Amino acid sequence: MSGRTHVSACPERTCVGCRERSAREGLLRVVVIGDRCVPDLRGTLPGRGAYVHPRPACLELAVRRRAFPRALRVQGPLDTEQLRQVVGRTAP
Ligand SMILES: [Zn+2]
Repeated sequence: MSGRTHVSACPERTCVGCRERSAREGLLRVVVIGDRCVPDLRGTLPGRGAYVHPRPACLELAVRRRAFPRALRVQGPLDTEQLRQVVGRTAP
């Protein structure tokens, strides 16, 4: 009952949108190529990655906070059109 130890066998990442931690499998990895945010759907793209929940709300939050340029250590602004195509858009 006591001493619930946190075993980090499955790596957790922080969503750059809502700032909640999730298992990596539940998050979309994003890398930057040129001046574009690209979804790393297969987990094979090299370079620094940012993680976001594949939800329109989290993507919007991340964009509004300019979280991608910060997380990816690049000068913004970044094109996030490809992410929107994967994640979807928030209803107007
Ligand atoms: Zn999130």
